[in-house]
Amino acid sequence: MSNKIMVVNAGSSSLKFKLYEMPEEKVLTQGIFERIGLEEGIFQIEVAGENKKEYLQLPNHAVCVTHLVKVLVEEGIVSDLNEITGVGHRVVQGGKYFSDAALLDEKSENLIEMMNSLAPLHNPAHLIGIRAFKEVLPNVKMTATFDTAYHQSMEMEDYLFPIPYEYYEDYDIRRYGAHGTSHHYLALEAKNHELKDSKSQRVITCHIGSGASITASKDAKCVATSMGLTPLGGIMMGTRCGDIDPSVYKFIAEYTNQSIDEVYDTLYKKSGLIGVSGVSSDTRDIEAAIKNGDKRALAAAKLFARRIADYIGQYYIRLGGADLIVFSAGIGENSPYFRKLVVDNIASALNLRLDEQANKSSNRERGIISTPDSKVKVAIIPTDEEIMIARDCIRILNLN
Ligand code: ADP
Repeated sequence: MSNKIMVVNAGSSSLKFKLYEMPEEKVLTQGIFERIGLEEGIFQIEVAGENKKEYLQLPNHAVCVTHLVKVLVEEGIVSDLNEITGVGHRVVQGGKYFSDAALLDEKSENLIEMMNSLAPLHNPAHLIGIRAFKEVLPNVKMTATFDTAYHQSMEMEDYLFPIPYEYYEDYDIRRYGAHGTSHHYLALEAKNHELKDSKSQRVITCHIGSGASITASKDAKCVATSMGLTPLGGIMMGTRCGDIDPSVYKFIAEYTNQSIDEVYDTLYKKSGLIGVSGVSSDTRDIEAAIKNGDKRALAAAKLFARRIADYIGQYYIRLGGADLIVFSAGIGENSPYFRKLVVDNIASALNLRLDEQANKSSNRERGIISTPDSKVKVAIIPTDEEIMIARDCIRILNLN
């Protein structure tokens, strides 16, 4: 039987959606509500391959969902709302409670709410989105897919921080990771395609966009990941510092008279590529500045690549070798310059070489970018978190 599954990513002032026909995995439409709760909202939806844009009042998420279902019927994308048999929501933080996607009911919603403190920018907004859909489509069953779930298979040595054990026991302070849905998708894709004839499936996935993380997977199961308790840890990012000596916190606070929250804000929003370069958090601007001879932009780019390479090296050891290194997300899929910078840092140790011609791809094109004689393959695989959420929804709701 065919099912129409709505995939939702709700933020505090935005709501992204994608409607799938399953199991065919056909995208029927997609779009976004923006500026929810502000004076004038924006609604965009793809209809028959064309983008339609509307400016309208969007006081809250429930109004958006009501508008969405109205447009879906008006445009003939669904003939009846009963055709939508499931809604799958993206949820950033599932903590220790979710090692898989879950049915959304009172219990799971309460657990998501309990995780608010670990993802204050995300989980409360997801809950608003979940409740809005419940209000407008009360008879449709819903599921949640957690960015952290894939990383729950890590061993304790891979997730425990070397701080007093009581903090882990009493407050659940540990590494949870991020972008798990993307890393899982990439590891599965690698297993089924790039490595389908390989005896082993040791994959290092580099999800590098404005937020970025590296994951080591074996047989499409997470072994280790770079993000920490929150999305501040791991590699350097567009505006986030990633792993640093924790005492930097104390020194910044003392020298600049900033509170704990202010230092956190500095490390979260004013560090990384923008902090080091002083130019931008966007790699396109960094590349342009480097071309114009900007030394700080070059330093930022080199540091960024080195941090990624350090993690690749660490995970090469952790996995006992690697069969494939994957580049994905905004930077990984689109920037030949940054991919080359990373590969230059690892090529000699891992006995691999970049195929310069193949690396020219700058438009989400899938492909191998290492030379055939390389001991470890390197590939670009465009990520697709939404299809994972749709698949989870079908599986959890038993709609197959
Ligand atoms: P997120 O989902 O974390 O917001 P994305 O994965 O969409 O981020 O990545 C966005 C980033 O990707 C941009 O900030 C920019 O640095 C980079 N990026 C996107 N397109 C290009 C491009 N054509 N060339 C270089 N970098 C790009």
